[in-house]
Amino acid sequence: MTRTIEPNECRQDSGVFMPVIDRNSCEGKGDCVPSCPYNVFVLGVLPKEEHSNLSLKGKVKGFAHGWKQAFTPNVAACRACGYCVAACPEHAIKLQRTPK
Ligand code: SF4
Repeated sequence: MTRTIEPNECRQDSGVFMPVIDRNSCEGKGDCVPSCPYNVFVLGVLPKEEHSNLSLKGKVKGFAHGWKQAFTPNVAACRACGYCVAACPEHAIKLQRTPK
């Protein structure tokens, strides 16, 4: 389901928090992409060299879903509204404070 989100609903300054994707949980379903008013996410394919970092669960999920996952090329634009966290059906996204 896609919903309209006004960017001014996110009150936090950008760059203070960032979404972190659990690579062992993400199934590349893509709900985070339209949920973010700041275009933080894109869907892509987990590089082969990163497959060995996954748990057994992550490897099974990755294989089953063609290694499709979400990535955050625009992570600095995050304003911590939390819509992506709520949108992910796999509970794979957490917000954490950006390291200084
Ligand atoms: S919390 Fe998620 S939806 Fe909100 S701005 Fe950050 S990345 Fe986008």
